[in-house]
Amino acid sequence: MDKKVMYSLTYGLYVITTVDGDKKNGCIMNTAMQQTSDPSCISVTLNKTDYTEYMLERSGKFNISTISEKADFSLFKHFGFQSGRDIDKFADFTDYKEAANGIPYITKGCNAYLSCEVADKIDLGTHVLFIANVIDGEVISTDPSASYAYYQANIKPAAKKVESTGKVWVCKICGYVYDDSKEAVPFEQLPNDWTCPICKHPKSDFVLQS
Ligand code: FE
Repeated sequence: MDKKVMYSLTYGLYVITTVDGDKKNGCIMNTAMQQTSDPSCISVTLNKTDYTEYMLERSGKFNISTISEKADFSLFKHFGFQSGRDIDKFADFTDYKEAANGIPYITKGCNAYLSCEVADKIDLGTHVLFIANVIDGEVISTDPSASYAYYQANIKPAAKKVESTGKVWVCKICGYVYDDSKEAVPFEQLPNDWTCPICKHPKSDFVLQS
């Protein structure tokens, strides 16, 4: 199968947030999807390695903040390229409010939020698919929602050409550079389960710098 067939599917971008005890956390995801409109029901899929997934298993409720085309790259770096296991993402972050369910939603660079309660879940091996009822929400702005393609073309900074005597591999998601001439192991010899140290995406999301 040509794996590029999967690229033909389009995605939005979201910050999913939850609270477990005193701990607030959230991450960037692209897998929110409406399932039914009446009643309002959505699905989200999270990687089991995400700390938000661990917290959501326990809390059973979450907010989805829909990222708009006005979002700054810093929002993606803050929620996408670091783990809530290592830092408190809400410690020095002020662009949020608390919804009626006690969970933060993002007020800058997002155009709406949905408050959801998990109704069911399916174990997909590496990920968990959650089915959730939308119980509340609010439109924040009329800015268009950002698609994943819009993020790639307009929000993510353009990669700067890296001069090297070896092959240079660039993460399509976050721009992290793996320069063979500076590493002990050439990129192509890294194990298949190796992931980007910044955004944790797999080897398959790296491209050879031309
Ligand atoms: Fe990356």
